[in-house]
Parts: sequence; structure tokens; C-alpha cells
Amino acid sequence: EKEYVGFATLPNQVHRKSVKKGFDFTLMVAGESGLGKSTLVKSLFLTDLYKDRKLLNAEERINQTVEIIKHTVDIEEKGVKLKLTIVDTPGFGDAVNNMQSWKPIADYIDQQFEQYFRDESGLNRKNIQDNRVHCCLYFISPYGHGLRPVDTEFMKALHEKVNIVPVIAKADSLTPIEVKKLKERIRDEIELFGIKIYQFPECDSDEDDDFKQQDKELKESIPFAVIGSNTVVEARGQRVRGRLYPWGIVEVENQSHCDFVKLRNMLIRTHMQDLKDVTWDVHYENFRARCIQEMTR
Ligand code: GDP
Ligand code: MG
Repeated sequence: EKEYVGFATLPNQVHRKSVKKGFDFTLMVAGESGLGKSTLVKSLFLTDLYKDRKLLNAEERINQTVEIIKHTVDIEEKGVKLKLTIVDTPGFGDAVNNMQSWKPIADYIDQQFEQYFRDESGLNRKNIQDNRVHCCLYFISPYGHGLRPVDTEFMKALHEKVNIVPVIAKADSLTPIEVKKLKERIRDEIELFGIKIYQFPECDSDEDDDFKQQDKELKESIPFAVIGSNTVVEARGQRVRGRLYPWGIVEVENQSHCDFVKLRNMLIRTHMQDLKDVTWDVHYENFRARCIQEMTR
């Protein structure tokens, strides 16, 4: 049987844009190393992004991400094409001085804006390769009691540049009550420290109640508690992606186990176009305004 990611609904998110050409989306993952970033993106898009990499020495195989790496995959579902780019970033963590860990990532985002800005003002405007980052999933450790200084620093350094969607990593290491408490704590701290994460747009008043309810639940789930796994296990007579424990199985796509499905639906089915619009209208415009200001100084 074929598993679907679900982006075939993308044409519903746009109006005049050409469906034939296909869609593109760039997703970045960031956060401490070992929190399951590479595993989650693999689980999200059912594609083994790393399979084509040739450099398989022992270290590579344990999948330590040591530099910013871009993977592009073309996927097609029900005739809808999506060119998906994942920007995997090296986790920070072991370095003594963690506080500047956001710097290379912020520079990367700026460089993509800069490239676009240059191309846009150039002669070949029709064939611009757009590498701007539309969303950054920021992984928060499940073992702390909220945001650590490094998390706050990171998000504040990037929140004017990219749509930040915070997630609690490895949620299978927490009980449902612990997840609930940690989410509340993180939401409070985001507010307290003035961190501007991606805001879901207001729900149209003419949407049906079902949609409104889903929208409300989505907003209340932030930061999404996620579990990643690329292993297929048997659960209730079905083969599902999950993690096997002596005490039972956690299922990645079971909504009572974690917010994986919510996150994937948000990224792909419901908010992909909005994430792109905000990137374009807010983050890129800010960058452009800064460039023009500097040029005319
Ligand atoms: P990264 O450094 O953030 O890219 O982390 P990786 O994806 O390489 O994962 C680091 C380790 O954590 C691997 O052994 C994964 O199997 C494991 N892992 C990934 N996601 C999860 C999760 O959701 N729960 C648990 N318990 N382990 C995970
Ligand atoms: Mg990694």
C-alpha cells in the first residue's frame, strides 16, 4: 500500500498560481544535536533524504549533522508536484560557548535572501531559483524545564528572519501531564521573553465549525510535541511507524501519542502557502528594506 503525505490539497491553498509548474517549499530544522531533527524530517516526508549520500564512513552512519546541508526531493502525489528542500543544520550543544550557535544559521537565511534580492534585480528574473527558507522547526529538549538560554537566544536572533515553529523533541520521554506542563511553561516563556514565533492566521468567520475547532486545537498545541521514527512496528494488527519499548509501542502518527500528524497537516495541508506568504511579505520585505536603506546611505 502507498502512504500519502497529503500535499495533494495544495492547489486549494492558492488561487491564481499555476498548479502545473508544481510547488516548492523549504523547511529548516534547528536545535541541539541529538534531539531527533534528522529523524523527524525523514518521518515527515517518508523519504529517505540521506540515502543518496555516498560518504558512508562510520561517523556518517550515525548521522551526525556537522554542517548546514540542503536536501532536495521531488515528490508527486495525485498529480501534484512538490519540490521539497530540507535544510538540516548542525546541532549545537557540546561547544563550550553555545551562545553564538545561531550565527551560521542566521547567516544562511540572510544569504538566501541576498541571492534572491540580487537575482530579482538582475536580468534573468524569470528563472530565479528561490532558496528562501519558509519555516524553521526549532527543537526544544524534553529534558529541561522550559526554554534554556540557548533556545531563547536562538529564537530571538532568528524571529525577524524566518517563521519559527517550536517543537518539543522526543515527546515519548515525557508523560502526557509532563507534556502539558512543559508546553504551558514554554508558551509563557515565549511571551515573557518577547519571542515572535509563527502566528497562525485568524480563522475566517465563514468557515464551518469543524474547521474552526481544528484551527483552535492547532493553535493550542504549540509547541508541538513530536516523536520521530523511521522504524515500522506492529500495533493493533497494523504496521505503523513507531518506537518499540518494553512497556509498549509509541505510534508516531497516533494523535493521542503526539502532535506529529498535527504538525504535518499544518505544514503541508493547511498552512504551507501562508508560511510562504509570510516569508515573502514580512521576512523578505524586512530584508529588502534593510538592503535598500544601506544602499542609499
Ligand atoms: P539530530 O542530531 O537532531 O539530527 O538527531 P537524530 O535524528 O540524528 O537522532 C538522534 C537519536 O535520537 C537517534 O538515535 C534517533 O533514533 C533518536 N530519536 C530520534 N527521534 C526520536 C524520538 O522522537 N524519540 C526518541 N526516544 N528517540 C528519538
Ligand atoms: Mg541531524
